[in-house]
Amino acid sequence: MRQSKLVSRKHKEKPADATLASHVYLLRGGYMRLVANGIYSLLMPAKRIQHKIETIIREEMDKVDGQEVMMPVVLPRELWDESDRWDSVGPELLRFKDRTGHDMLLAMTHEEACTALARADVTSYRDYPFMLYQIQTKYRDEARSRGGLMRAREFTMKDAYSFHTTKEDMDDYYLKVKDAYYRIFSRIGLPMVQAICADSGMMGGKETHEFHLLSDVGEDKIVVCDGCHTYYNSEIASAVYQYEPEDLLPLEKIATPNTKTIEDLVKLTGVAPQKMAKMVFYTTEKNETVAVIIRGDLEVNETKLGKLLGGCLFNFATDEEVYKVGAVPGYASGIGLTCKVYADKSVANAYNLICGANEEGFHLKNFNVSRDTPKAEIVDIATVQDGDICPQCGAKMHLARGIEVGHIFKLGDKYTKSMQMTYTDENGEDKTPLMACYGIGVGRSLASVIEMHHDDYGPIWPLSIAPWQVQINAMGLDKKAIKDTAEKLYADLTNAGIEVLYDDRNLSAGVQFAEADLTGIPLRLIVAPKAMAEGKIEYKVRGTDERGFIAVADVLTFVQNWISKEMEKYKS
Ligand code: ATP
Ligand code: MG
Repeated sequence: MRQSKLVSRKHKEKPADATLASHVYLLRGGYMRLVANGIYSLLMPAKRIQHKIETIIREEMDKVDGQEVMMPVVLPRELWDESDRWDSVGPELLRFKDRTGHDMLLAMTHEEACTALARADVTSYRDYPFMLYQIQTKYRDEARSRGGLMRAREFTMKDAYSFHTTKEDMDDYYLKVKDAYYRIFSRIGLPMVQAICADSGMMGGKETHEFHLLSDVGEDKIVVCDGCHTYYNSEIASAVYQYEPEDLLPLEKIATPNTKTIEDLVKLTGVAPQKMAKMVFYTTEKNETVAVIIRGDLEVNETKLGKLLGGCLFNFATDEEVYKVGAVPGYASGIGLTCKVYADKSVANAYNLICGANEEGFHLKNFNVSRDTPKAEIVDIATVQDGDICPQCGAKMHLARGIEVGHIFKLGDKYTKSMQMTYTDENGEDKTPLMACYGIGVGRSLASVIEMHHDDYGPIWPLSIAPWQVQINAMGLDKKAIKDTAEKLYADLTNAGIEVLYDDRNLSAGVQFAEADLTGIPLRLIVAPKAMAEGKIEYKVRGTDERGFIAVADVLTFVQNWISKEMEKYKS
């Protein structure tokens, strides 16, 4: 590709509203343009990168016997009524009417479409197992689209759906896809991506793993055990809380005027928040108020609470609602309440805590859950904190942040049952198949590669997905010897099947190199007068100190060898 013809304007200035490196460089480097909030057009360099990522994904999906299909982006309401998601999914599902007034939607995922496709075609146990996948546009009307391709409203996803007649078969196949995912992320330059135990959210199903790139700019909180190296999304992570046994002392009322928060209480009493029981009240969409007793230094995990409440929506209770159940805001305890009371594990076997007295200006010393709130249901509802103890191995856990680049779910019969997909088994009986699904955000993966591989000047693309393999820069194209060499180099490399971006615009070295850095091509060849006088050109490897001079006649062989050696890193 000749750069003079490339539609991909580069910008010096950082875009005002971009903070992530990927967002900044994708805009500055002429990779994409904003069309509407969270909606982008991709220019040629990004399209080429995306194409290579998709090719790697295809190769790995085909290796686990995936069959590539294509399902529509626009779906009729009826399919989503079958699974009850037309009503249960929130406004991120974009619903609209077609010209005949028919309810339609823009698919944010394709479980229903794929189940409908498969049930029409597959009827016998002999046809199982099978996996269908596609690389397709998804639309999610995200409330907070941000970070460019990281959280877009329209984005490309690889989504795959496998169907099985037994749980064992689904479990085996799930592991195969999990391995394929590790290979995919490794091949696109993200070998550090980790599978993490997670929550299945609106997809349903039980076992699920998210694939995360651990990164300080990630939106998700991850809990990592330093002992057994298990990774959990903090939405589902648990800790164990152990305490030295103490005698249960009698309750004692203490005056604590103007002391409504744990912080105030610590200041007044000098007692650590770990020795306090905090109350949190929620009211559900069914107008039911519930109370949670949790250790003073911990927070309630709302994903766990949501599950406890059977998927009911909830909000913090108002003061009025707190009074209604017999508690006093700021001075609440779980004692004598008229509502359902949950006690987190963190307080269940703790001793002699300070809690509210349900009386303005007073607290109680020596609160013990088992003795004082025996009806409270003991639950696991706390958010894990840095330094908490791993329930698996007893080692300490620490918090990290992650970018979710992929997500796999064992759905079981959630969709096949509600959508009445069946097959005939060996005995001629109708059975419901099991299903698993597997997603990868293609655009988010691309952005994640930049987060992982960039410097102060631009992205440093792994060769496996670089927009081009080689960049040619020439200094002084108005000189015949330079121009002839650069042109011949471009022709020779291109004819040998090497992907070359040739800066043929006769611009200053400063401008050319700044733009080349933004394009991030791994191998740069520089045709310049000084080295040319000795019949040589310079090469540089982007993002490393590797550089040197090669005789013009040897360039093709050098480049071919360099590419095949470098590609070893990204082998399947
Ligand atoms: P998130 O929690 O980040 O909103 P999700 O859990 O809703 O994502 P999934 O339904 O698991 O997403 O979709 C599969 C994959 O699609 C995700 O792992 C992610 O890589 C990608 N993805 C999801 N939403 C977006 C988005 N708005 N923009 C870009 N990629 C996305
Ligand atoms: Mg997910």
